Amino acid sequence: MKPAPFRYADPRSVPEALEVLAAEEGAKVLAGGQSLLPLLSMRLAAPTTLVDLNRVPGLDTVEVGGDGVRVGALVRHAGLLAHQGAARVQPLLARATANVAHPAIRNRGTTVGSIAHADPAGEMTSVLALTGGSVTVASSSGTGTVGWRDLFVGPLETSLPGAAVVTSAFFPALPPRSGTTFAEVARRKGDYAVCGAGVVVTLDEDRRVAAVRASYVSVGLTPEVHDLTDAVAGSPVEKADWAAAGALARTLVEPDGDLHASADYRRLLVGVLTERTLADAAVEAAGGSE
Ligand code: FAD
Repeated sequence: MKPAPFRYADPRSVPEALEVLAAEEGAKVLAGGQSLLPLLSMRLAAPTTLVDLNRVPGLDTVEVGGDGVRVGALVRHAGLLAHQGAARVQPLLARATANVAHPAIRNRGTTVGSIAHADPAGEMTSVLALTGGSVTVASSSGTGTVGWRDLFVGPLETSLPGAAVVTSAFFPALPPRSGTTFAEVARRKGDYAVCGAGVVVTLDEDRRVAAVRASYVSVGLTPEVHDLTDAVAGSPVEKADWAAAGALARTLVEPDGDLHASADYRRLLVGVLTERTLADAAVEAAGGSE
């Protein structure tokens, strides 16, 4: 199918983009187009105007600091995947991005677009949640920060007003003595995940487990972070019972069934992926604590 007719605007600044968005209720931001354009082609969306951000300068930078990584609205998945500084400060970024679609889509699609799209099957919404991240949003009422908990409202739905541009996403750094892993099960490499898991294990100074958090992909309507610490709290890292953490995770999630997998199968995958990823993350955390 072909999209319904729409107008096209290519503003050269964020205020100019906001002006077009504010003038028309049906106007929509276009970033990489890797989610929006298929929706248009299937006539599942019919914006009156596409407001293309691609000519707005200054949105394509990755800023790495000791406290975290700020990813600009025009940073492509491929750019973030290749960014060594970002991977050093927040390893989940590259590990999760490697699972986003195929190279052609990663060359065009943006990390911030993924977050603004709020797809429960997207990896980067889950990473934003797991890292305790936020987005910076420009709107007619000024520029502000929205934390992940306040951002995601439902599948493909955020709390942002229509006339808003997400200018960047911020992913805080890992706490000290922490390790992470991200893994997923998909029917084919590059497909959306049937189930994905990102985890962070944090140790105390005596190499005992102090905190365990996990977030899942394609499980639930919005990203959530599950605290699995109780299952393994205080265990020496080498002896921690990661299977118990996986079992706890299975009781906390509320997956849905669809044509790709039943809810029960997704719950099973949550347990298996949690156990495996935690075991790997613990090795990293222990290495980092030496
Ligand atoms: P666009 O398509 O341009 O926009 C998506 C939505 O976000 C639109 O509603 C748009 O208005 C809004 N938006 C975008 N940027 C902003 C902004 N800065 N401010 C406000 N609103 C904004 N994604 C995954 O996560 N995992 C996958 O496995 C995966 N597989 C895919 C497979 C295929 C075949 C395809 C076509 C896509 C796949 N995607 C996958 C989606 C891809 O990652 C997209 O790049 C991403 O979801 C959206 O980024 P985008 O820059 O292309 O956004």
